[in-house]
Amino acid sequence: MRKKSQVALIKSDDIQANVSKVFDLLGGVDNLIKPGTVVMLKPNVGHAEPADTSVCTNPEVVRAVIREVKKANPKEIVIAEAAAIGCDTEECFRVSGIKEMADEEGVECYDIKRDKDLVTVAVRGYRSNINKVKLPRRLLEADHLINLPILKAHASMVFSGALKNIKGVVQDKVHMDMHKKDLTMAMMDVWSVCKADLNIMDAHRAASGYSPHMPVPIETHMILGSKDPVAVDRVACEVTGIDTSGVSYFKVAEETGLGNYDMDSIEVLGHTIKDCYFPMWIPYIGDMSKRWPEYDVKCDGGCSSCQALLAINMEELKAVGAYDENKGMTVVIGGLNDIPKDIPDDKIVLHGNCTKKYLKDHPGAYHILGCPPNEPALYLTIQRHETIDGTGDQEDEIIRPCMARDAQVWHDYVFAKFEEYEKGNLTEGF
Ligand code: SF4
Repeated sequence: MRKKSQVALIKSDDIQANVSKVFDLLGGVDNLIKPGTVVMLKPNVGHAEPADTSVCTNPEVVRAVIREVKKANPKEIVIAEAAAIGCDTEECFRVSGIKEMADEEGVECYDIKRDKDLVTVAVRGYRSNINKVKLPRRLLEADHLINLPILKAHASMVFSGALKNIKGVVQDKVHMDMHKKDLTMAMMDVWSVCKADLNIMDAHRAASGYSPHMPVPIETHMILGSKDPVAVDRVACEVTGIDTSGVSYFKVAEETGLGNYDMDSIEVLGHTIKDCYFPMWIPYIGDMSKRWPEYDVKCDGGCSSCQALLAINMEELKAVGAYDENKGMTVVIGGLNDIPKDIPDDKIVLHGNCTKKYLKDHPGAYHILGCPPNEPALYLTIQRHETIDGTGDQEDEIIRPCMARDAQVWHDYVFAKFEEYEKGNLTEGF
């Protein structure tokens, strides 16, 4: 029988007490961290957003982990991050409040993107397009790597936790390659060469809604921890009501031997899932085929990532006032659809690499590359009547300016929807 993975789950308003208790339940910091060692902490600081947005790991959670780790007398504690593609890590450290906290604690913030001393590591048995990964020597030679994700809903991955956060140890070039073919598999390939020995998850104010770009923070007040990234993510989903059958990367993670997914092979320590249950608002899970009846939505064979992006983009079309004027368009995700030949090509948007095959019958359709595609690509393609997928200069010239232009109206739309959800007025999207 498979050995059970232990996941510590603690809920209270006191972040430091929660973190210390999680370490204790997992064996105590003296058993987890050897004295005189270098300890790398890898929070999620991928975007330049302040702590109250819940986009990045809460600085107070990182502080609590630093203070706990200090009890084991390490030689050095370092906070490491490579921010999202196109984002400046140092700006992210500063805006998120991580830098100020790190200075107060006497800990260095290390920008992986600026490190030139890289080692090429072969990914043996790779399953994505990533057969080699360039990683900083400093990260590889650290004695301990503690993964510090924040729990959040995630537009292209359904949710983001421990498994996804390790994606942030690579520089932009590898990161872009990971997005080209199969991001889920590429994430697992990176994990296989850069394993964290401990995962402490910040679920103090988890991000629900259309996170990461339009999160709605909720007061969950939990910290979770485990040596097993699959198990900690699974428990995080259970405690926040996320239907894991809609999360494609769990299966892949378990198959690749990263950890235990089945709840029968997980032991929850501390509080129970029932004690802590706090459902998140994730408005992009469920049947998408009839949710926007003014459009012809075909989504057979689409995985959870493209389904989530479909939902976000259709709602964003409404938010920016471009929904009605484009009624009647056919939007396709996944590779198992029938697309009648008599639909004019300029009325068809093919979203994601899976839909490339339909170009044979509809060569003039808008085809958005990516697996998954760039987050706002679909609504911008429909709105602008040109294919927007982030290739060439589109990221800088079109995508970022449009997102900045639409940010306020999208924010107001999402928070108004959340109010309806809290009042029980929303009937779909959960
Ligand atoms: S293109 Fe979309 S539906 Fe196809 S595998 Fe990639 S993310 Fe999933």
